[in-house]
Amino acid sequence: MRQRWKVFGLLVLLGLLAAACGRGATPSEQPTPTPTAQAAATPSGQRLTVVVSLPIFATMVAAVGGDLVEVSAVLPPGTDPHTYQPAPRDVAKLAEAAVVVYNGGDLDLWMERQLEAVGSRARVVVLSEGLEPPPGAEAEHEHEHEHEGTPEAGKDAHDHEHGVNPHFWLDPDFGIVYVERIAAALAEVDPAHAETYRTNAERYIREIRAFDEWAQGQIATIPPERRKLVTFHDAFPYFAAHYGLELVGVVILSPGREPSPQEVAQLVERIRAEQVPAIFVEPQFNPKLAQTIAQEAGVRVLELYSDAAPAGLDYLGMMRQNVTNVVEGLRG
Ligand SMILES: [Zn+2]
Repeated sequence: MRQRWKVFGLLVLLGLLAAACGRGATPSEQPTPTPTAQAAATPSGQRLTVVVSLPIFATMVAAVGGDLVEVSAVLPPGTDPHTYQPAPRDVAKLAEAAVVVYNGGDLDLWMERQLEAVGSRARVVVLSEGLEPPPGAEAEHEHEHEHEGTPEAGKDAHDHEHGVNPHFWLDPDFGIVYVERIAAALAEVDPAHAETYRTNAERYIREIRAFDEWAQGQIATIPPERRKLVTFHDAFPYFAAHYGLELVGVVILSPGREPSPQEVAQLVERIRAEQVPAIFVEPQFNPKLAQTIAQEAGVRVLELYSDAAPAGLDYLGMMRQNVTNVVEGLRG
């Protein structure tokens, strides 16, 4: 682990050098990008550069910032953030950002480490900072921990500090917190447009609340004994708690670690015993294992979105699709 970060540090340096050389060699046809330190004084007409970790957060920034921001994500679309290996090009991107947004926890630690390596002076927004799991979700997480076994060699103490499940945004109440935090940061860095950011955020939050009301009505159409969720990775405890779904199990306990044959057999057994109507895969993972499990248990396979959304769907679009798929899979 430590060795890997040493190598990464080197790549960072090389990346920075390359970026610096590239800038020096280019004839000054275009205005030099505003240095990060002066980003607060962005002249009117120039868009605020925002870099986020996951593409789904970029859609939240776009909803709040509109044309005033230029937002890009470090993680490529359809990629698993838990096992993502940063690339040198990510560093150049981060060095130019006036605002940096990431989730925190063991979802996108690579972003935190990159920021340190770059020595970025951007306004940093850690979306999940200080958030506590909602009532009913905490016990579920501890339950999963019992099955994790001995810590793997190479897992350092830093990883263990982040024991809280990081997928807060899948509960719309926390989605609203994320939007509020993004709006506050944009307003702080670009005070000339603070009013616009606030208005946009308020509108988006109203849409999230309207979605949630619709979603509660949709979930209510599922017979109570069928409100049971088996997902691919452990991303949905807060979603499940918010909508009164029972989280029966996950296919993989942590991304990058394949379950043992015994764990697979246990899950099949639990799906049968609990009469779970369907299981859900996610596009950033190979669905083969889940398909085998579904076949053995005799249930359907549908898709859910957490860390990677389908192209063209923003946060709300993704949430709507999740609720639609849950209802289709479980209602019967
Ligand atoms: Zn995840």
